[in-house]
Amino acid sequence: MVYDVIVAGLGPGGAIAAYELAKSGMKVLALEKAKLPRYKACGGCVATKVDQVLDFSLEPVTERKVYGAVFTYRGKSAVEIVSDRPLGYMTMRDRLDNLLTEKAKEAGTAIRDGEAVDRIITDGRGVEVFTERGKFQGRVLIGADGVNSVAARALGVDGEMKKAVALEVEAKVPAEKADAIGRVARIDFGVVPGGYGWVFPKADTLSFGIGGLRSNGGNFRHYLDDYIKKDRSLAGVEIDRVYGHQIPAFEGGLSRLSGDSVLLVGDAGGLVDPFLGEGIYYAVRSGQIAAETVKAHLNNGEALSSYDEKIRGEIYPELEAALKVSRFAYAHPWLWHQIMRANKGLLQSFFDVIRGEDRYDNFVNRMRDKVALLPRKIGF
Ligand SMILES: Cc1cc2nc3c(=O)[nH]c(=O)nc-3n(C[C@H](O)[C@H](O)[C@H](O)COP(=O)(O)OP(=O)(O)OC[C@H]3O[C@@H](n4cnc5c(N)ncnc54)[C@H](O)[C@@H]3O)c2cc1C
Repeated sequence: MVYDVIVAGLGPGGAIAAYELAKSGMKVLALEKAKLPRYKACGGCVATKVDQVLDFSLEPVTERKVYGAVFTYRGKSAVEIVSDRPLGYMTMRDRLDNLLTEKAKEAGTAIRDGEAVDRIITDGRGVEVFTERGKFQGRVLIGADGVNSVAARALGVDGEMKKAVALEVEAKVPAEKADAIGRVARIDFGVVPGGYGWVFPKADTLSFGIGGLRSNGGNFRHYLDDYIKKDRSLAGVEIDRVYGHQIPAFEGGLSRLSGDSVLLVGDAGGLVDPFLGEGIYYAVRSGQIAAETVKAHLNNGEALSSYDEKIRGEIYPELEAALKVSRFAYAHPWLWHQIMRANKGLLQSFFDVIRGEDRYDNFVNRMRDKVALLPRKIGF
């Protein structure tokens, strides 16, 4: 059997691409390395702008909504900035990804989990996909297989990806402890060089960790231990296990996201906000754009390379603006913290960006105006 589309990986990018394609009647096979449902190291905070693009609700897997954040600098100098509407849905990734996979399955996707894609051969007319259990044929492959993507390797772009390091802990806590954090995320700029620490409250779990989005290395376990000591919400929390994972933070974009019968979505294409490390929305959205492109390709002969143009038009401008903020904030974390403390309105406008109500570059312009007022001008 020749599938219209084979999807490698069932994170948000792959699941949504499969959902959209199967819904429109395409024959879709999804191959997922892990047995589902599976754990994924992730804060699980889904920006509410996802509501603008999904045709179903994430309510069933939303454990808490956050309306803002408490920002600290190395555990001190706390400033709370809260808005009147939610900006993030706090989810556990096993449940979130399971919901998205169930949507893909209900729409008609054939799913084989516990079966990793090992090798891909493409020739412009289709793909052959090899797993340890067999060979599958498709007209197009969507590579949604995350940061160490076999599909990106097949396109020859995996070496271009900049991979940041993150450590994460999921700790079960009494619900009152998560309630005490309330409707905010806790974020610390300064506790790890070139990155931030976070605590995200879920129903009866705290997800917390550190990510070095612009870090030059260092002892991450030491930074994590230091953060745990410094953030008061983590006092007494028991740690079973620390998960390490890479984040393919955007650094100008890969040379291409499409090739002979292959498209890359989400982390496989390096589509992660390099300031926040936010990648779920971009995985979902690139999965949808990939699905639209594949439909136009198979039905009307549109070139798959139009996918690159669409991503450059819609997603890259956001990630480029995020890169500017990232370069500034992580080079001058203390100053960044002071700017946030002194300009709560500026941060409120950043929340609008997370909600998808404003563009990132508008925020950068507002930010630039503030920085221009500083006595010493800093490259921004
Ligand atoms: C510690 C940490 C915290 C984060 N916190 C947040 C956050 O709070 N909010 C946010 O928006 N983003 C966050 N991110 C980023 C986010 O996790 C990713 O950007 C997002 O998961 C990307 O989705 P994806 O579908 O592209 O890839 P993934 O979610 O990584 O899914 C890829 C899937 O492919 C499978 N796979 C891998 N190799 C193969 C193979 N060879 N064959 C078949 N299947 C394969 C994997 O098992 C996995 O299921 C965080 C990342 C990290 C590391």
